[in-house]
Order: sequence, then structure tokens, then C-alpha cells
Amino acid sequence: MAETPEETLRRLWGEVADLAAAAAVLEWDQETCMPPRGQEGRGLVLATLAGLRHERLTAPALQDAIEAAGEAAEPGSPLAAMVREARRVTRRARRIPRDLARELAAVQSRCLARWQEARRQADFGLFQADLERMLQLKREEAAAVAEEGQGLYDALLDEYEPGAREAELEPLFRRLREELAPLVQAVAAGDPVDESPARGEFPRDAQEAFGRQAAERMGFDFQAGRLDASAHPFCTGFHPRDVRLTWRWDETDFRPAFFGILHEAGHGLYEQGLPLEWQRTPIGGAVSLGVHESQSRLWENQVGRSRAFWEWALPRFREAFPGAGEVTVDVLWPAVNVVRPSLIRVEADQVTYNLHVALRFGLEQALFRGKLEVADLPAAWDDASEELLGLRPGNAAEGVLQDIHWAMGAFGYFPTYTLGNLVAAQLWERARADLGDLDTLLARGELVPLREWLRERIHRHGSRWPAPELVEQATGRPVAVEPFLAHVRGLLREVYGVS
Ligand code: ZN
Repeated sequence: MAETPEETLRRLWGEVADLAAAAAVLEWDQETCMPPRGQEGRGLVLATLAGLRHERLTAPALQDAIEAAGEAAEPGSPLAAMVREARRVTRRARRIPRDLARELAAVQSRCLARWQEARRQADFGLFQADLERMLQLKREEAAAVAEEGQGLYDALLDEYEPGAREAELEPLFRRLREELAPLVQAVAAGDPVDESPARGEFPRDAQEAFGRQAAERMGFDFQAGRLDASAHPFCTGFHPRDVRLTWRWDETDFRPAFFGILHEAGHGLYEQGLPLEWQRTPIGGAVSLGVHESQSRLWENQVGRSRAFWEWALPRFREAFPGAGEVTVDVLWPAVNVVRPSLIRVEADQVTYNLHVALRFGLEQALFRGKLEVADLPAAWDDASEELLGLRPGNAAEGVLQDIHWAMGAFGYFPTYTLGNLVAAQLWERARADLGDLDTLLARGELVPLREWLRERIHRHGSRWPAPELVEQATGRPVAVEPFLAHVRGLLREVYGVS
């Protein structure tokens, strides 16, 4: 019997998805187990896989299958969503000219090497020319893939956060800057929290056991996932039944490892909750980076940094770290909620983090509008840092050179971090309304009802609905800053007495 249009689309898309999954396994291996000298050989394998994937993605047979499926699909059906996603992804792939793609790949690897060296020497001049070239190529890419009505920056955002618009993000970031900057300054001017309960001796194995225990409690399935060490923590999934988390630790402070594991396990629950029946189809994966980040942030911050959760966690903490002494929730809870302006984004707390993102968003906007030259970027960075965080970087390594994103050409990526924070607060508000007394559940360590709620509202939909629609369906409103600001104000009032 002949294949139906859906079967043909699934068969051809399945190959594209498998090539991506195979590359993801190799990338995971690269970060966790591969010996340092394996780098060059691995680069070749990944380039071959990327080339094959691009070939399949742009093949006429796939285009035909998408169009046939489009004709067969009932409006609003999962098949119609598959067609929508397949069109979006293949259109981008087809519109980037081969020469441009090749040059982007070459400039990216040169940029990364130069950026590393420039950061080591804290000398932006070593990186400037390559970044200028990268920016020029990204403009070309954006112009090639932009849809009707999309600006250049919108076209770049779309890769990470389909459907996001610069014009819609702008008022969100403006409000965050206006509301958070004074709060953060008030906190910085007040008494600091005593962090000593979070510092001391925390053996690696005990930290791993403590973190794993929390991830299990959240409902992360270790029969369908793993936790391994890597230099930078991340989560990657090849299938809902094979999800990898990584972590790193500091034996003098338990916080980075513990909250890092909660964060990655939050991502991991999303990956494990993706719909099995749509695997290897265009709607089988996570819908956007912002929605992904909302899952990690919700578990890390709304759950993991709540007082109620520490009622459950404290006895486990004492058992894991007998050397920590007779700590209580009263002293430990503030120590996991320190808010302090700092220069480095990846070390920032949940409140100041968004100011770091606002800074980058403003500079990216200026670059793509032609209002800022790359040569002036370091000074513009330092000024914005002083304005938003009250801190001026001492050198370019702790300023404009701190992040890898621009060296990779990932413009339009940063806003997804803040979208994640905003959506997490929105989901939390809604979960509280739906699940009743969440504090009681958290204090008992009963975290699975929340996971089930997220599965129902977010995970099981894969990419069936565009991200803005999914957020609105799940939370009853479009992305907004109010729930997040309410969360922050409550926290600062309780921990710092600031309001
Ligand atoms: Zn994350």
C-alpha cells in the first residue's frame, strides 16, 4: 500500500531528526568524556553530519512531502502543525546561500579562537576585526531569511524563539530595567545576607548524592537519563527516553552544584515529557529556548529557592553534609537567596540576571540598527553596566568579552534567558492557582504533582503550538513582567526587608 502524505513526511523528517540526534550524542560526548586530543577528529565528524542534515533538509523530496502533507492536513490538526514547523525550518535552511553558510562556519571557528585569546589577554582589539566580519555575515544571513514584516534582528531572534519580535521584547526589557535597577541598588546599599551557612567543606560525592536525590524527587527518570560532569553544565536530549544532564561543583560552596542540578533537571523533565507519538517529526521537540528556560528556572528558583522546599531539603542537607553543623532553615534559606550586583552574567542571581540580559539586548539592538560600531562596543558595554548594575568592569574580560555567544554568531539568543524567567513566574502563579497549597506539597517534598502539571500544560505539546500561543494557553496571558516582578518583590521583602 502506498504511504500516506503524513507517513512520507514522518519517514523523511525522521532521517533529519536522527542526524541531529547523532550529532547531539557526539557533542555530549565531546563535553563529558572525549580526551582533549580528540577535538580535531570530532570536528570533522560533526561537520559531515551537519552537511548531511542540511542536504536532507533542503532536498526536493522533502519539500514535496511537506506540500503534499499540507494539502492533506485538517486545519488545527497535529499534521498541520508538522507542516507549519517543517516549512519554517526548511525555509531558513534553503534561504541561506551555500557560500554564506560556508563562510559563517569558517568565521565562527576563527572568531571562537580569537575570542578565547582576547579574553585571556583582556584585549578586545584582538577580537574586533573578526567580530566585525561576523556581524556583517549575520546581517546577510538575517536579510536572507527574514520573512515579510520581520526586521533583521527579528529574523535572528526567530532561530531561538520562533515568533518573538524585537518590538514586543522592547517594552518588557524597558520595564525590567526601570523596576529592577532601583530595587537592586536598594539591596546593595543595605545589610548583606550571612552566606557562611552555604560555605565550608562539601565533598564532591556528597554534593552529587544530594543533587541526585532532589532531581529524583522532581520526577527526573534516571532510567531514561544520566548525570555526568562537564566544564559547563547543560542538558541535552536525544529522545524522551535518553536525556543527559551535566554538572560541576565547588567543594567550598554547595550552591553552584545544587542549583545547577535543579536547573538542568528542570530542562531534563521537559525533554523527558515530550510527546512520544511525535518523536522524529517536526513537532516532537521543545518549542523554543525561552520556554525551555522557563522549565529550568521554575525548578531552580520558584521551587528550589523557596522556603517551603527547604523545609523538606534541610534534613537531607544535614545528612549529606554532617560537617555543616546545626544549620536551620532560618539561616540557610537567606543564604540561597543572595542578591548582589556583579559583573559576570553566569554568576548572577535571579534578580540581577535580567539586567545583564537587558544590557546585551540593548547593545544588540544598537548594533543591528547601525547605531553602534563594533569598535565602540567595549565603552558602550561599560557605560551600560554602570548604569544598570552600578558596576564598571575593570577590563574587557569581565565586560564585553565575558560571553561566548557573539563569538559564535548567536545574536538574538540572550533575550531567551529573560523570557524564561518571565514565563517561569507566570507558570508558577498559574500552578499555585490550580494545585492549591503548593507550599505544603513542597515542604513534604511532593514535587511530582507540579511535574505532572507542567507535563500537561507544556511538555506534552512539543512544538504543536507556537511558543507565544502555548504560553498564553498555559498561563492565561501573553508574556508579561508583572508575575516576575511580584515574585522578586516578595523575595526581596522577606530576605532583605526591601520593598
Ligand atoms: Zn538553562
